[in-house]
Amino acid sequence: MKKTLLITLLGLSISSTSPAVAQSQRQIDFAIEFFNKIQPRSIAENREYCGYFGLNDDNQLVATAPTKGDSESCYADEPPYSLDIVASYHTHAGHSYEYDSEVPSSNDLEADIAEEVDGFISTPGGRIWFNSASREIAILICGRNCTVSDSDYDPDNTKSIRNRYTVDQLVRREQEY
Ligand SMILES: [Zn+2]
Repeated sequence: MKKTLLITLLGLSISSTSPAVAQSQRQIDFAIEFFNKIQPRSIAENREYCGYFGLNDDNQLVATAPTKGDSESCYADEPPYSLDIVASYHTHAGHSYEYDSEVPSSNDLEADIAEEVDGFISTPGGRIWFNSASREIAILICGRNCTVSDSDYDPDNTKSIRNRYTVDQLVRREQEY
């Protein structure tokens, strides 16, 4: 139920451009389904996985094969030229008492803004974030357990989570962590 509500809210927030909403809904559904497939491995191995979502020659939304990162970072392989890039994606590995991994890092959002490519991020608690490069904000599109989550996830270890953050707000959160 929460998932549907958040998706509706996102749709409303960008309702001035209806084709973009349609595409975003499709992207969100695709992201949830895709993260369900790669979260178990990312959590079990405690490493991030990353890559890109894009449109292939048949205009189908597809994901590039996930590149293996480590527990705190991941550098995606170059996507094929034939792919019309829609967004990057990465997971945040397993639950950690060391990292504030339920939200995108300020570096995540800064990198997406600099690359002018949107980003999807999944967290150990099963949340999914959307980094909007053009609006320069991270938006929680899907809450706790939206996708596969870490059974070791400890909600008491996580600071309260807002629905959206700017880079400055993420930096402030990191300084307080
Ligand atoms: Zn990240």
